[in-house]
Amino acid sequence: MESSERNTDVLIIGAGMAGLTAAAELQRAGRCVRILDKGRGVGGRLASRRIGEASFDHGAQFITTREPRFVAALEDWRQRGVVAEWCRGFVDHADGHPRWRGKPSMNSVAKHLAHGLEVRLEQQVVALHCLQNQWRAETNTGEVYSASAVVLTPPVPQSLVLIAAGGFVLPPEIRARLAAIDYERCLAVMAVLERPSRLPPPGGVAPADGPIAWIADNQLKGISAAPAVTIHATHAFSLEHWDGDRQASGRVLLEAAAEWLGAGIKTFQVHGWRYSKPMRVHEQACVTASQSPMLVLAGDAFAGPKVEGAALSGWAAAEAILKSTP
Ligand SMILES: Cc1cc2nc3c(=O)[nH]c(=O)nc-3n(C[C@H](O)[C@H](O)[C@H](O)COP(=O)(O)OP(=O)(O)OC[C@H]3O[C@@H](n4cnc5c(N)ncnc54)[C@H](O)[C@@H]3O)c2cc1C
Repeated sequence: MESSERNTDVLIIGAGMAGLTAAAELQRAGRCVRILDKGRGVGGRLASRRIGEASFDHGAQFITTREPRFVAALEDWRQRGVVAEWCRGFVDHADGHPRWRGKPSMNSVAKHLAHGLEVRLEQQVVALHCLQNQWRAETNTGEVYSASAVVLTPPVPQSLVLIAAGGFVLPPEIRARLAAIDYERCLAVMAVLERPSRLPPPGGVAPADGPIAWIADNQLKGISAAPAVTIHATHAFSLEHWDGDRQASGRVLLEAAAEWLGAGIKTFQVHGWRYSKPMRVHEQACVTASQSPMLVLAGDAFAGPKVEGAALSGWAAAEAILKSTP
C-alpha cells in the first residue's frame, strides 16, 4: 500500500459545520490547515441530494440562530446569497423565529465555507497515532497526514474509535464523559411525488405521534423544481428498523405520511443517519483531550445539537488551539 507523509500545523478531521468553521478561523489566524473527510463532498449532516428534477435536504432542515457570533455569520451568508429565510415557524409551531435554508440547498452553506480551504475528500481516517509529539492520521487508503494539532469533528463515538485504534489513552475522566455521548438515529425518506403534496405552506410539519418526526415539502421550501418530500422517522422507529429492509421501512413511512402527501409516489430513496442528533450535550463547547500534542474534540455534541452548536464548537476548538500554541 502506498504511504506518504504530509505535514500541516493543524489537521481537521471532518468537513461538516464544526470542521469548516474551525478550519476557517485557524487559517485566518495564519495557521496551515488541512481538512480530511471520508465523504465524496463536504457538509456532513448539512446534506442535499438530487433525484432527477427533484432536490432534497435530507439532513439538517433549517438553521436557527441564537448567539450573536452565529447571528452575524448568518447575516454575512444572507448578504452573500448563501442562505435565505424559509419561514418564521410552521403551522403547528409558528413562533416568529426565522428558519434559514441554504441557497439553493443546505449543502451550499458547507460548499461556501469550504471555499479557500484545503479539503481532501474520500479520506477516511482509520487511526490517529501520537508519535514524537506529532499526530499522524492514517487513512483507509494508506495515506499518512501529520500535524502538531488535530481537531476531531466526527460524531464522538467515531472519534473515540480513531483515538483507540492509534493506541492513544485518554485521561479516564475525559474518556468517561465522552463515552457517555450517544446519538439518535434517523431514517430519512426522499420521495418524488407525481403532484404537489398536501402540506400547507411553508411546507413543514412535525406530527405529534406515530413513526414520523418531520415532513418537509422541498418544493414549497423553494429548493426543488419537482414535487419532493423529505420524511424523517422518529428515533424509536429508526432504531427498531435500523437493520431491516430500508425500502420496506420507506414504504411504511410513506404510508404513514399518506394524508400529507395526497399524491402518488414516483420514486423514493432511504438514507440512514446513524448519528443524527446527540441525546446529551457535553458541558464544554469543545474538549481538549491532549495538550501536547494538542488534540481537540468538537462538533454538535459540545455546543448544542444543531448547526449553530456545531459552528460554535468549531470556533471554540480553533480558539483553544490558538491560545495554547501561539
Ligand atoms: C436528520 C437530521 C435533521 C437535522 N435537522 C436539523 C435542523 O433542522 N436544524 C439544525 O440546526 N440542525 C439539524 N440537524 C443537526 C445538524 O445537521 C448537525 O448538528 C450539524 O450539521 C453537525 O455538524 P458537525 O460538523 O458537528 O458534524 P457532521 O456534519 O456530522 O460532520 C462530521 C464530518 O466528519 C466526517 N467523518 C466522520 N468520520 C470520519 C473519518 N473517520 N474520517 C474522515 N472524516 C470523517 C463525516 O463525513 C462528516 O462530514 C439535523 C441532523 C440530522 C441528521
